[in-house]
Amino acid sequence: MTKLCAGVVVSAVCLSVSAGALADQSVNLYSSRSEALIRPLLDEFSEQSGIEVKVLSAKPGSLLSRLKLEGSATPADLLLTTDAGNLAAAADAGVLGTLTQDVLEDVPTELVDPQRQWVGVSLRGRVVVVSERTDPRDDPLTIEALASPRYQGKVCIRSSANIYNQSLLASMIANDGAEQAQAWAEGMVKNFARTPEGNDRAQIKAVAEGICDYAVVNTYYLGIMLSDQAQAPAAEKVRVIFTNQDDRGNHVNVSGIGMTRYAKNRANAEALIEFLLSDVAQQWYAQVNHEYPVQGAYPRQRFGQELDA
Ligand code: FE
Repeated sequence: MTKLCAGVVVSAVCLSVSAGALADQSVNLYSSRSEALIRPLLDEFSEQSGIEVKVLSAKPGSLLSRLKLEGSATPADLLLTTDAGNLAAAADAGVLGTLTQDVLEDVPTELVDPQRQWVGVSLRGRVVVVSERTDPRDDPLTIEALASPRYQGKVCIRSSANIYNQSLLASMIANDGAEQAQAWAEGMVKNFARTPEGNDRAQIKAVAEGICDYAVVNTYYLGIMLSDQAQAPAAEKVRVIFTNQDDRGNHVNVSGIGMTRYAKNRANAEALIEFLLSDVAQQWYAQVNHEYPVQGAYPRQRFGQELDA
C-alpha cells in the first residue's frame, strides 16, 4: 500500500507517522523547552508562515531516546533543546541530519556545529553570583579562582549530574587541560557550603539566605526571578560576576535546534529554524526568557516584524 506523503509517493512507512507529519503546512517539533514558554513564539511563526507547529515536550534525554527508538518512523522534523552537550549527544547518536548552508547564512560559525547538524538559537552565560554581604575586593575574577582555598565553605552549585555543569567542566578541560580541570573540580568540592541540591534558582536563594556567599548559575534565572514579585527579593541580594574578562571570557552555552535525520517536512523545518534566528524571535529570547540573542548583530529580513509587547 502506498500513500502520498509530503508530495512523494512512498511506502507504508508513512502510514505509521502522525497525521501532522503528512500535512503540507505543518512541522513536528520535539522540544525540551517548556511549551508554555515557547508557544507564543511558535504561534507567531504560524501566523507569519501559515505553518502549524506540533510540539512534543519532554526532557532532553527522553527526546533523544525516543528519536533513537523511532528511527526512520519518527514524526519529528526538528529537535529543540538546551545545551551544546545535549545537541552534541543527539548528533553523535545519528538522529540529526545536515542543515543547508542557506538556513545558516549569517550565523556566527562558532554557534554552528562543524558538521552543520545543529545551530544555536540563544546564548546563556554561566556566571558566578555573589552575596551583597561580601567585599567586592574578594570577588573571584575567574571561574578557576572559585576553587581556591580562600572560598572554602562558601560556594553553592547544583549537582554535577546536571549538563550545565558538565559543559562548564568540558570548557575547562578544553581551555586548561584535563589535569587542571580535575584539580578545579576537587577544589570546588572542598569549597562547598553544602552538598549540592536544587536547581540554579535554589543556588541564588541560598546565597540570598546566607547559606553560601558564591554560587554558579545561568544568568537567565536571575532575569526570571527579577521579573517575578515573589522571587525578586532574593535575586536583588546578589551581584553578578562575568568571570575571565582578562582571558577567554565568561563561559557561555547555547540552546539550539537541529533537523532530524528522517524529517519529512524539511522546508517547513528550515523555515522554523530561520524564524528562530530572525530578529523577532531573537528579541523574544532576550525579552521574555532573559537569554542572549545569537543573532543581534546579524539582522535577517525574512521575518523582520517587531515583537508585540
Ligand atoms: Fe535552564
